[in-house]
Amino acid sequence: MDFSWTEEDELLRETVRRYATERLAGDYARWESEPFPRERVVELGDLGVLGMLIPAEFGGSGGRHVSLGVAAEEIGRADFNVTSFLQLAAISSGLLALGSDEIRKEWLPGVASGEQVVAFALTEPGVGSDAARLSVTARRDGGDLVLSGEKASCTFAGLADACVVFARTGGPGAAGISMVLVPLDRPGVTRQVYDSVGGKLVQRGSLFFDGVRVPASNQLGEEGSGFVGAMKSFDFNRAIIALGCVGTAQQSLDETVAYTKERTTFGKPLARHEGVAFPIAEHLALLHATRLVAYEALARADAGLGHTMEGAMAKWLGPKQAVEAIHSCLLFHGWTGYGNDLPYAQRHRDIVGFEIGDGTAEIMKAIIARDTFGREFAAYK
Ligand SMILES: Cc1cc2nc3c(=O)[nH]c(=O)nc-3n(C[C@H](O)[C@H](O)[C@H](O)COP(=O)(O)OP(=O)(O)OC[C@H]3O[C@@H](n4cnc5c(N)ncnc54)[C@H](O)[C@@H]3O)c2cc1C
Repeated sequence: MDFSWTEEDELLRETVRRYATERLAGDYARWESEPFPRERVVELGDLGVLGMLIPAEFGGSGGRHVSLGVAAEEIGRADFNVTSFLQLAAISSGLLALGSDEIRKEWLPGVASGEQVVAFALTEPGVGSDAARLSVTARRDGGDLVLSGEKASCTFAGLADACVVFARTGGPGAAGISMVLVPLDRPGVTRQVYDSVGGKLVQRGSLFFDGVRVPASNQLGEEGSGFVGAMKSFDFNRAIIALGCVGTAQQSLDETVAYTKERTTFGKPLARHEGVAFPIAEHLALLHATRLVAYEALARADAGLGHTMEGAMAKWLGPKQAVEAIHSCLLFHGWTGYGNDLPYAQRHRDIVGFEIGDGTAEIMKAIIARDTFGREFAAYK
């Protein structure tokens, strides 16, 4: 499998790194307490990282998943939370592309430019890992669909302009789920933003639908295709998440390597104590392996090959390796690492969320096991 970077990818890496260093890194802690300005989302659009999977006719660059991974890795070096804009733009544009001509024309250019933020609402208070059992309904009424129920834990609940809602339009199970685009300014929509441990920038929260009407033409894809649509989005996005995590952890390790060469204890630099250098070496090796499997998943997506297993491997490894590496970085900075003047505690809190979001570690292992042993050996359906 060839997943080398093209010249354009290298140029993209340089451009995004420059933007992330100059424009994002210095404000990372600021968005813990202030809302991320919408102009900054438009800046991401101008940078070209929101329309990477959107065809040129709709304002995107029609690029490759691998290039999106490069962008996520570089943004992750500066502000992991900002990678959520890349993730949601990529996921939502893939789902909006399944909609009518009108939907595509109305929404895709705005997603590419950053003027429209579209959220993804699958989880509910009663279902997460077992999302096929969801209970939010979209009932047909004449030419409309009428949505009722609560979607939980949605990234961008507090700021999105619209949302792809996974709702029950048919019978029980996965086959009864469809995708519906719901503009969030519709009567009957309310929002509640959670007090999250980290990732405050993304305003994660619940979306409530109380008899919300949208035209039936807002259904994306065939009736009953919602569950498959969600799973296909997860397959590549899990690798994007992993690369965001790798970027954040790599940045933390780069800083820690520099610090441990300077700081001395017992008459020599920390880096010359194997108790310090060896764990750093282990983190570097494990992160490198994670990076490779993530790019392999994305290269397979670009080649039109299955990448469910590679995506699940990357998503299990990415947040786990990053959380462990950042924890070490915090500790190797001693008492200063435990202060909020340094970014390690925030990075740790922000990434822990993705040990849950987009599928937990246990679910990633269940996918890897299912694809290895065969569906008949799956621990659960
Ligand atoms: C930062 C963040 C962002 C998110 N963004 C979104 C979003 O934008 N849109 C959206 O729809 N959702 C989003 N979510 C929700 C997320 O996808 C769910 O939280 C996740 O799928 C897990 O579901 P749950 O929280 O209900 O946990 P549960 O399914 O209740 O699981 C609880 C625990 O039990 C374990 N478990 C469950 N079943 C099994 C099993 N069969 N075997 C072994 N262990 C098991 C899980 O691994 C977990 O540790 C986000 C969550 C977070 C934290």
